[in-house]
Amino acid sequence: MPDRYRVTVDKGACDGIFACLVRDDRLVEADDGLAGFDPDEAEAVARTDDGVTATFEDDRLDEAEGAAAACPPSAISVEVLE
Ligand code: SF4
Repeated sequence: MPDRYRVTVDKGACDGIFACLVRDDRLVEADDGLAGFDPDEAEAVARTDDGVTATFEDDRLDEAEGAAAACPPSAISVEVLE
């Protein structure tokens, strides 16, 4: 059964180091030089002044969590949805 989850990049915390990209290739370098999401890979992508959030429903939760764990300033958060 696929997982449904939300991944958020805090743009205030992101340093553009891109350690995340090698852990989860759905994360990409956005136009602002910080991490964002490939819109073709996500169910939905929402941007705010503070960051960008993508919702996924698939079996790649471990990759998202790996990207979050690899981010030096802890700019990525993963929230599992019901
Ligand atoms: S690893 Fe963290 S700081 Fe680096 S680009 Fe990814 S989200 Fe930003």
